[in-house]
Amino acid sequence: MSQTYAVIAETRGGKLRQVTLEAIEAARRATQEENASIAAILIGHQVTELAEELAQYVDGPVHVVDRPELEVYHAEATFTATMNALTEINPNAVFLGHTAIGRDLAPMIAARLGAGQISDVTAIEHSGSDTIYIRPLYAGKAFERKRFVADGSAQIVTVRPNNFAVAEPLPSSSPITHSTPTTLSNLRSTVKEVVRKTSGKVDLTEAKIVVSGGRGVKSAEGFRPLERLAEVLNAAVGASRAACDAGYCDYAMQIGQTGKVVTPEIYIACGISGAIQHLAGMSQSRIIIAINKDPEAPIFKVADYGIVGDLFEVVPLLTEEFEKA
Ligand code: FAD
Repeated sequence: MSQTYAVIAETRGGKLRQVTLEAIEAARRATQEENASIAAILIGHQVTELAEELAQYVDGPVHVVDRPELEVYHAEATFTATMNALTEINPNAVFLGHTAIGRDLAPMIAARLGAGQISDVTAIEHSGSDTIYIRPLYAGKAFERKRFVADGSAQIVTVRPNNFAVAEPLPSSSPITHSTPTTLSNLRSTVKEVVRKTSGKVDLTEAKIVVSGGRGVKSAEGFRPLERLAEVLNAAVGASRAACDAGYCDYAMQIGQTGKVVTPEIYIACGISGAIQHLAGMSQSRIIIAINKDPEAPIFKVADYGIVGDLFEVVPLLTEEFEKA
């Protein structure tokens, strides 16, 4: 029987998150079988248009669970609805983004299905008949190459945002099927309110460019030049923990071991020394640019380009130049 993979979609602000299309691409790369198909699961409320969009990227059906209780993420409700759809699909493997939601859902699904899980995958290779999942360890200082034991049980994979290409749409759209979860009425908690603390217009974990500020930014006001540069580059603004601890910005912006992990095309570190805990969240970025007035700052050891200077002079100059481009 041919293999079926399932991708669990994530939405934000009425849009499909980019990581969903990356997870589809990861599923395409993972499959070694020509006849394998990829189905999708979309959980939410009033998501008809998103289901149609998703149907352009998978060759298996899009299973939609559309209920008012699912308008915002609720671990129990979303899990119940997801399991409903997964029972219908009965997939060999399930792919999710390695996001806050993916990290919450994946272990629950793995436990319920008695499945193995490989998390935070950044690349997929094949070795003979094995699919090898590669994930970074110790802030990218080491890589782990893992494979599932072929015992017939389901496989759960979470993929780190910004590491796989966004899947290209297919020539024709897949059918959309609606599932009704058995029950969502006995939930043991309710979401009263979602207070979104965004780090700007661009989602930090999915941004192609991140401009980040550290203690060297010196104040909340000191972040303005960084925000201006980010606006010109269509970038997200991040921060070191020291900047968050000092109250210059919100913890939603923190990058590092105890913050978010980002892997943008370009990471611009302004007034950040480069502590190991900060590197844990950004060292996998493709190009790292550091602006620091201390030529001995450790950030220069990981930077591809370094500018030794005062960020309050350098950042406005860069902004001015990029504005001209
Ligand atoms: P500093 O180390 O104080 O560096 C400021 C830099 O700014 C200096 O290099 C200085 O030369 C430069 N500078 C000053 N003024 C200017 C100027 N005008 N122009 C240019 N450069 C200037 N940190 C994180 O970031 N993320 C985490 O998730 C995280 N988790 C942690 C978890 C644990 C368990 C622990 C113990 C620590 C954690 N930390 C984390 C903290 C980490 O150890 C560092 O303290 C922190 O990253 C330092 O932030 P910083 O580089 O902004 O500040």
